Amino acid sequence: MTDTHVLVIGIDGVRYDTLCEVATPSIDSVAANGFLAPVMVNPAAPTISGPSWTTMVTGVLAQVHRVFDNDFTDAQLAGNPDFVSLASTTHPGIQTSIGADWQPLVTSHSGGPLFAGGGFLPDRPRGAGSTPQDWHDSDQDVADRACQFLRGLRSDLGSVAFVYLHGPDTAGHETGVGDTYREFIEASDNRVGQLLRTVRARPHYSAERWLVIIATDHGHADGGGHGGDSFEERRAWIAAEGAEVPVDGGELVLEQADVAGHVAHVLGLPRPAAAVGGAFGARKEAAAALVDDLKS
Ligand SMILES: [Zn+2]
Repeated sequence: MTDTHVLVIGIDGVRYDTLCEVATPSIDSVAANGFLAPVMVNPAAPTISGPSWTTMVTGVLAQVHRVFDNDFTDAQLAGNPDFVSLASTTHPGIQTSIGADWQPLVTSHSGGPLFAGGGFLPDRPRGAGSTPQDWHDSDQDVADRACQFLRGLRSDLGSVAFVYLHGPDTAGHETGVGDTYREFIEASDNRVGQLLRTVRARPHYSAERWLVIIATDHGHADGGGHGGDSFEERRAWIAAEGAEVPVDGGELVLEQADVAGHVAHVLGLPRPAAAVGGAFGARKEAAAALVDDLKS
C-alpha cells in the first residue's frame, strides 16, 4: 500500500507560447514549486489528442499502444495499462477518481475507454451546436466533482486522480488562437486553482505526500486545429510539483511518457516492458552521464 497522493490535471490543446502570454497564476505557482517545461510530442505519432494522452497515461509510444488518432478501437492497453488502473491493481484500496468531458477517455465511445475503469462524463451538450457556456459548464462539472473527491480522501490510503479539461482545445478548433482560446486557458487555470486550493486546504495536507502534474497533449495552429508538424502544434508542456519533482526544470529533457513514468516512480508501480517514460529529471541525468562517458 502507498500513502502517496497523485493529482494529474490534463488540459487539452494549450499552446506553450499562449500559456506563457496569458495570466495563469495557478500553473505558475506549481512551476514555482517545481517546474514548467516545454516538451515536444514524440514523432511516433501525429499531434492528435488520442495518441498523446495514451502515451502520457501509459508511458509507452504509439508504435506500442497503437493509438494513432482519436479512435481507440485497436488500442493495445492490456499490457500497457493506464496509471489509474495500474495503481488499483498494485495497491488494492487506493482511492481513484477520473473525470473528462471527452468520451473516449471514460466511455466506450470511439473504442474507448482509455482508462480501463471508465470515469465521469458530464451530462452536457458537446460537439455541433454546443456553446462556449456548455464548454465552461462541462469543465466546471469535472473540476467540482474532482474537488469533492479531493476533500473526502483518506490521508492514510494513497490516491490517484485524473482531471481532464477540454475547453481550450474546443475553443481553438472553433475560433482559432484568439481571445476565446485565451479566455479558456485562463478559465482552465482558475479551475487548476480551485483544485490546488482544495488539496492545500486538507486538514493534514502538510503531513501528506502529494504529487501534482499538469500537462497538455499538443498545441494548435494559428487558425485553430492540430495534427500537423508545425512547431506550435508539436510543442506541448508539463508542469509539476511535489513528490520527487525536480525544482526548476529549465534544463529538463522530457518526454510526454514521463507523466506515467513519474507517477509510477512515486507510487511504486510496475512498468510495461516497452515503457520509455521515466521519472522527471532521470533523462537529464542519463544524458549528462552519456556526455561524461564521451568526454572520458
Ligand atoms: Zn487534444
